[in-house]
Amino acid sequence: MNVVEGNGARIPAIGLGTWELRGRTCARIVEQALRLGYRHIDTAQIYDNEREVGEGLRASGIKRDDVFVTTKVWTTHFMAKDLERSAKESLARLRLTEVDLLLLHWPNAQVPLAETLGALARVRQAGLARHIGVSNFKVALIKEAVAACPEPLACDQVEYHPYLDQADVIEACRRRGMAFVAYSPIAKGRVKGDRALARIGDRYRKSAAQVCLRWLVQQNVSAIPRTSKLERLQENIDIFDFELSVDDMREISAIGSADAR
Ligand code: NDP
Repeated sequence: MNVVEGNGARIPAIGLGTWELRGRTCARIVEQALRLGYRHIDTAQIYDNEREVGEGLRASGIKRDDVFVTTKVWTTHFMAKDLERSAKESLARLRLTEVDLLLLHWPNAQVPLAETLGALARVRQAGLARHIGVSNFKVALIKEAVAACPEPLACDQVEYHPYLDQADVIEACRRRGMAFVAYSPIAKGRVKGDRALARIGDRYRKSAAQVCLRWLVQQNVSAIPRTSKLERLQENIDIFDFELSVDDMREISAIGSADAR
């Protein structure tokens, strides 16, 4: 599996998003994803499915060290007195002793960023998270966070797909050695009906979703598509046997600006 590096973290280029996956469906999809070769699962406290993600991990039989597990601390636990406790609660639900990546889910202006990042760094120092990072941070906040955090930040997880330009955030991450992880990477399914992506896909015998995910991975971005359907699990990871040309990459990057007109 290709990986995207971020300040020492090796994040698999494709992961499974689990937002809105619940109960047995969630556990089954996580298990199947791992059996199909996914090695990165993305969950969050607010998704209310950490327990089921843990069940899927155990049911898959894949060794713990071979899977990269990300979870995210919700904004109500950003004060120093709450953050470590909430991280431990996540680990208890997942039935893990540590996660690979622990993110601040959204900026929360109510709590000083340095306080939250100090607490997040202590979670790493205590061995509860191998790496730490942020999500939904724009350029100015990335700068502030890197300056305030006693430990390196491995990534920023941000919405990114052909209809949303994030060049400035990607650049800000790169300059600081951070990985960029794309959420909603297939624009919540919208790419399926995209004629330009489908036309490019025809040349490679790939679907519009596969072309979109390949476009992300070729930018050295990690992507975490979600699906509740087994056949799409396979489709979304089956993107490592072709390479988009420079012209195709450029055309896909231009979709966003055409879309805005
Ligand atoms: P995605 O862009 O991954 O799209 C998911 C949707 O696309 C689902 O409706 C799914 O339907 C459909 N789909 C999946 N695969 C295909 C395919 N091959 N062809 C056509 N349709 C497809 O959206 P998400 O918003 O879920 O983002 C992915 C993950 O990112 C989340 O699950 C979550 O883990 C993370 N995230 C993080 C956020 C943050 O604040 N940090 C915010 C939002 C998301 P079906 O199930 O029917 O296949």
